Amino acid sequence: MSSKRRNAIAAVIFDWAGTTVDHGSLAPVRTLQRVFANRDISLADDVARRDMGMAKRDHIRNLLAEPEVQAEWQRRYQRAAVESDIDELYQEFIPLQMSCLLDYAQVIDGVVPVVDTLRSRGIRIGGTTGYTRAMLETLEAAARKQEYRTDLSLCPEDVGAGRPHPFMCYQLAVNLEVSPLSACVKIGDTISDIEEGHNAGMWTIGVFRTGNMIGLSAQDWKELPAVDKNSALVRAKASMREHAAHYVIESVADALPVLEEIEYRITRGERP
Ligand SMILES: [Mg+2]
Repeated sequence: MSSKRRNAIAAVIFDWAGTTVDHGSLAPVRTLQRVFANRDISLADDVARRDMGMAKRDHIRNLLAEPEVQAEWQRRYQRAAVESDIDELYQEFIPLQMSCLLDYAQVIDGVVPVVDTLRSRGIRIGGTTGYTRAMLETLEAAARKQEYRTDLSLCPEDVGAGRPHPFMCYQLAVNLEVSPLSACVKIGDTISDIEEGHNAGMWTIGVFRTGNMIGLSAQDWKELPAVDKNSALVRAKASMREHAAHYVIESVADALPVLEEIEYRITRGERP
């Protein structure tokens, strides 16, 4: 109980790809593109990224409903995609995603010191994802070797539904024994992360440089000319703001001052 008095924030819940690992959130994009390419359908980056963060099967369903994809599907198969197509694509997606996951498991710079600081303050660390349990466990093992671990991470199949539903966040609060939900913060790199946080009644922080909004690996980002970096940052930040994240930051490395501000607002009686 004393830790509760000390901390206005009870838990911080981080997304995985694009937020704490996989700079640019490349693994799911490249895999979805391969799955559709195997059907002779090209998937543009921006289309593949539009609904990123959802449970992967839901994401595939949404992709098939995109006008660009519907048109290509019609051209290729002379019919609209049906439910069994979603199943087949998802079954093809799983092994492809597993096979390349470790190529994209590097922990993003700045995550470990921030999480260590939060933990030293008695704040619980949770994780949510759109990946399957097997994918999540693969990533967790890789991240542990790089000194990043959550107290508990959950995936859509653990609770029956992924983002934008709040159930992974609810279950984390129960299992981590934290309350109220208004003392929790959700941090993620996609619109669906922010929706998940809002739906859970939590504070939300959108990460706009290291993940889905810009979509570049750490190396590609480093090599980008300064003028292109600036325009990409302006665009990504505006897009994240437009979707009503309480705060936006370039990367998790920048989270501590924002979390301190949230803490101050909670102690003043404000709610998300
Ligand atoms: Mg993500």
